[in-house]
Amino acid sequence: HKFDTTLYKGSVTVKTGFFIDGQWADPVDGAGDKVEVVDPTYGKVITTIIGGGPRDVDLAVQAARKAFKTSWGLKVPGSQRGRILDKFADLLESHSEELAALLSLDVGKPFSSTRQFEVSTAVKIVRYYAGWADKIHGKTIETNERKLAYTRHEPFGVVGAIIPWNSPLISAVGKLAPAIATGNTVILKPSELTPLTTLFIADLFNEAGFPPGVLNLVNGYGHTVGSALSLHPNVDKISFTGSTLTGRNILKAAAESNLKSVTLELGGKSPTIVFNDAVLDQAIKWAAHGIFYNMGQACIAGSRIYVQEDVYDKFLDGFTTFTKELTSAIGHPFEASTRHGPQVSKAQFDRVMGYIASGKSEGAQVHIGGESFGEEGYFIKPTIFVDVKPYMKIMREEIFGPVCSIVQFKTEDEVIEWANDTTYGLAANILTENSARAIRMAHALEAGIIYINSAMAGDINVPFGGYKQSGMGREMGEEALDTYTQIKAVHVNL
Ligand code: NAD
Repeated sequence: HKFDTTLYKGSVTVKTGFFIDGQWADPVDGAGDKVEVVDPTYGKVITTIIGGGPRDVDLAVQAARKAFKTSWGLKVPGSQRGRILDKFADLLESHSEELAALLSLDVGKPFSSTRQFEVSTAVKIVRYYAGWADKIHGKTIETNERKLAYTRHEPFGVVGAIIPWNSPLISAVGKLAPAIATGNTVILKPSELTPLTTLFIADLFNEAGFPPGVLNLVNGYGHTVGSALSLHPNVDKISFTGSTLTGRNILKAAAESNLKSVTLELGGKSPTIVFNDAVLDQAIKWAAHGIFYNMGQACIAGSRIYVQEDVYDKFLDGFTTFTKELTSAIGHPFEASTRHGPQVSKAQFDRVMGYIASGKSEGAQVHIGGESFGEEGYFIKPTIFVDVKPYMKIMREEIFGPVCSIVQFKTEDEVIEWANDTTYGLAANILTENSARAIRMAHALEAGIIYINSAMAGDINVPFGGYKQSGMGREMGEEALDTYTQIKAVHVNL
């Protein structure tokens, strides 16, 4: 299958190197790692960027520390931090088209979605935290008439922000905006697979007015840059989004170095539960959006779909029709009709195909899909498995691809038990018209995020994060302000 390479007419330039102390910098140790950036649509290298090492990280940490002490942190009023963040949001907005194009090129996301949703969400996040920057208040506590105590929410200092590849722009600003609004300085480490959008935004940091050292960018691999940040004794906090395995390694590194604070947004195996009283057309759309959005590469993907037995056949019919339509909309990310692009990388493609093979070999039936698409690039057809058993790998492990399993259930109690039978606890989707049941389910499910009659529908005002092995701490909403601050209690004798 050949795609038209001339679909994106614009041109976007990104600088390579590291952005440290307000300037572009080269690696201090020789040439640095060569990191190939691959266009997943064709599987071809589009550019090579430089990856750093521990000494580059150290320089970034020194710059961030100096900025925290001299030109940011508690030295700058919140209103000023908010104004700079607002300017940064305006700049992102004015470069929406280039950012959307980079996201589609780098990640393979359909351009229609990066343009309409991803960039505007990133802009909203930055504006939202710009608004909070001068509203970070403690409280007064009167213990008795001769004593007064009050609290201050102070920034940690230097924050290392380590992000994955599936939504690189939203992940980057989802960390840097609340960290910066609360007065921290930041070293951003994007995924080695998708560095282009963060390289582009780093070039806007000075124009927005951030003093040198407030926001720094060091690209590179996890085992070099990521690990150096997590082990660094002068980094006060790591905010991480990625796999549960890496999250564990980061916690270990934090424990072995300086007991830095760690926030983790990790993987998931979220259930979608369709009751017999759900509005079926709507339920089918939500369930499909819940698993197939971003080619299944979403931490909150609803990959286990439980359907009550009396509507199972009807649901499966409708879901299959939807999936067929989506399959016919596989295409080049820049084609207007495309709704399903490639997986991000060869490794990810192989991993997802490996899960499909394991489902088949463990005895599950491929109902539709179950194979790759085209001769080049990393496309996988949206895939539905039926006849699955709870012990199968495809029901237990995070696949992070367009693959779901559909299971029949009889009773509410049974489905609660099955849905909670996982080491993860990120999200759960409940589809029913019975509001009492919806609320009972919401309370019984072990997950940090519950969607009733929707799915994959986060809101920046609302805290986001997981139970169990899906994470520690929360991002988004007012709660992210707590994530990036520590409380000081001041006792006053009167
Ligand atoms: P990953 O854990 O492989 O990598 C994430 C980041 O960590 C990358 O920047 C990588 O370079 C870095 N890294 C790797 N090893 C490291 C180490 N030893 N020390 C420090 N940093 C290291 O994850 P991924 O494949 O990029 O992303 C997919 C995973 O992310 C999935 O499990 C998905 O569920 C999860 N995710 C979670 C959320 C959420 O909010 N909960 C959102 C998006 C993705």
